[in-house]
Amino acid sequence: AKRIAPGSHVFFSQEMAEEVQERLRLSNALQQALKNEELTLYFQPQLRVSDAQLLGVEVLLRWHPPGGSPIPPGHFIPVAEETSLICDIGDWVLQQSCRRIQQWPAGQALPGRVSVNISARHFHSPDFVARLSALLQQYPACRNRLTLEVTEGVILENLQESRTRMSQIKALGVYLSIDDFGTGYSSFAYLRELPVDELKLDRSFIQHIDTRPQDKAIIACLLELAVILKLAVVAEGVETEQQLASLSELNCLAYQGYLAARPMPEPQLMAWLAQQG
Ligand code: C2E
Ligand code: CA
Ligand code: CA
Ligand code: CA
Repeated sequence: AKRIAPGSHVFFSQEMAEEVQERLRLSNALQQALKNEELTLYFQPQLRVSDAQLLGVEVLLRWHPPGGSPIPPGHFIPVAEETSLICDIGDWVLQQSCRRIQQWPAGQALPGRVSVNISARHFHSPDFVARLSALLQQYPACRNRLTLEVTEGVILENLQESRTRMSQIKALGVYLSIDDFGTGYSSFAYLRELPVDELKLDRSFIQHIDTRPQDKAIIACLLELAVILKLAVVAEGVETEQQLASLSELNCLAYQGYLAARPMPEPQLMAWLAQQG
């Protein structure tokens, strides 16, 4: 929301009214889309830096309205996050992801981990852990296979509650990853107190690893921190061989990015996996 200085005159412009209208329209359309199965999962491989072995996949949501062009998640997830719609969408993504893991085709290499993005409102919803537990009972193959990606903001919103919740999630055999790590404003002290397994280094650092010495230094520091705290690290958004070489030099464990593969629908992922051998 825009902050308005006290005493300033506020005019609700035509433009603002239209923006509200547009968000409302989008939210309603998204609700329908969920019912009409217009949402699909894409998968992006995560590879080991040292030998390109497949370690996992990240699940990324896509919306294909019939007859329209696909709408990227950056456009509709923030709208969904304004209401409990994000919980319905999040539950759907978790359910679909677990079903995929449970029904993985025989003879096809199953990625070690399947990472799912979880929004703040969903993570903090009262019955989140209970529902996750029920899901794992329904799909037992997902135990020790599922990773939840949450952002720092999600955790710091309520550190005490987050800690309890994360311990319960860990007890279910689900891994926890901090997404977009390094972009927050906070100290990293909270990491000591939380049962986190993995950090994902934000693309904004990786992008400049070879052009800005400061960014490379920050990445080196975060990687050392991860060693001390015994956390796995995934570098996001690796696009060039040079970036990969720099990550290798800094002993980064894993990466994902267009260099290796873009997010893909399931049939394409299967073809990609088969080709990897
Ligand atoms: P994220 O979790 O940080 O996901 C990484 C984004 O970077 C994805 O964008 C991915 O397609 C993109 N990406 C991966 N490799 C590269 C690369 O080499 N270069 C560039 N330029 N981009 C790369 P996408 O799929 O558009 O998703 C955007 C954001 O939407 C995600 O950011 C995540 O915050 C959110 N999102 C996506 N799916 C879900 C979901 O199922 N639930 C929730 N709550 N959020 C989701
Ligand atoms: Ca993510
Ligand atoms: Ca991320
Ligand atoms: Ca991001």
